[in-house]
Amino acid sequence: MVVKSINIQQENSFFMDLHVHIGSDQHGLPVKVTASRELTFANIARECQTRKGIDIVGIVDCASPRVIDDIGQLIQNGEMKEIHDGGLRYHDTVTVILGSEIETREKSGGLSHQIAFFPYFVDIREFSKRMNKFVTNLNLSSQNCGLTAQEFFHIVNGLGGILIPAHVFTPYKSIFGNCVDRLKDMFTPSTIQKIPAIELGLSADTDLADSLEELSEFTFLTNSDAHSLGKIGREYNLIQVEQPTYQELLLALKRENGRKIIANYGLDPKLGKYHRTHCEECNHTAVGLPPVFQCERCGSKKVTKGVLDRIVEISQGRKTISPLHRPPYYHQVALSFVPGIGKKTLEKLFSYFGTEMNILHKASHQEISKVVGFKIADDIIAARNGELTLIAGGGGRYGKVSAKSPKEDASDCLF
Ligand SMILES: [Zn+2]
Ligand SMILES: [Zn+2]
Repeated sequence: MVVKSINIQQENSFFMDLHVHIGSDQHGLPVKVTASRELTFANIARECQTRKGIDIVGIVDCASPRVIDDIGQLIQNGEMKEIHDGGLRYHDTVTVILGSEIETREKSGGLSHQIAFFPYFVDIREFSKRMNKFVTNLNLSSQNCGLTAQEFFHIVNGLGGILIPAHVFTPYKSIFGNCVDRLKDMFTPSTIQKIPAIELGLSADTDLADSLEELSEFTFLTNSDAHSLGKIGREYNLIQVEQPTYQELLLALKRENGRKIIANYGLDPKLGKYHRTHCEECNHTAVGLPPVFQCERCGSKKVTKGVLDRIVEISQGRKTISPLHRPPYYHQVALSFVPGIGKKTLEKLFSYFGTEMNILHKASHQEISKVVGFKIADDIIAARNGELTLIAGGGGRYGKVSAKSPKEDASDCLF
């Protein structure tokens, strides 16, 4: 169910982003080579606290020995505290969930990304030791371990962690994008029962994913997969738990004892990098009815299949049926996508409203326009209400927000 209006945070509910990468350790040594060096363990927690308003953050490069050293130091100097029910607490505010994204390889050669989460620091250290046998350079992010996803699950499960398949429709590195048409072709039935959630990825949303009947029992996660501080929280979840801890998170993913994900907030999938099929020869991104497997412009079959096109292919055109437990999915445009918002404007907004969550969810048109003018206030409110015109992304290029709203010029809309 895609809903346009946004509700705001209630008691016992927390904003959560469970997929943030680390660029480097505190000494500047690389962890994720393609990510910003500013993304250190401590900086992520600080950014969530001071600018993003994210209460629970999953950091997915914690098995890197460099990061383990950083975490150990932060615990020792009292900046991070271990929580009894799992997770770490930063400055008594942000909860950090310790995770590791690893690439697995099926016998067919298909590659996919899986995220393992663990409750305690000692667990992720143990996991790191275990993975050292399978990964060439464990200091670096999202490395291939040569194991199948099923074999990898046994390691994670054996160490008391959970496995969550990452961005499951993305071409090249995901379950449906690169490996199989059905989860049951990759995992045994008892493993499938122990996977509490799947991550949708930026180019998909609930409506698209619920066209696959096989996914109806899973909780859906919308996470940022941030490679820079600014992109933390471009997708996130609103979670209802008693306390922000690992054990409570687990209950919420399993939808037990009243704990649950209340809402998913994500980019319109058109803004994702892989929404439509993209031609590698002439750079055309498909606009016609999905599925498109061949370039509409030059006829080339050298294409990167779009997430939308792939979902239509494997769902065999099944209509979307969302199960009763499925929370609403709110399309929203992160501030970094809104036209005209550069670094200076962002700084002004942050210094006045505190966090991105406040700006996106709470500030009124009048308040925003006082700080940055009417035009940007119009665009932020239009983004909040899903009223901006979007041009679909593909082949690794993000979709775009057109500066004009559809109310101004409906003929601009390509869809
Ligand atoms: Zn990934
Ligand atoms: Zn082409």
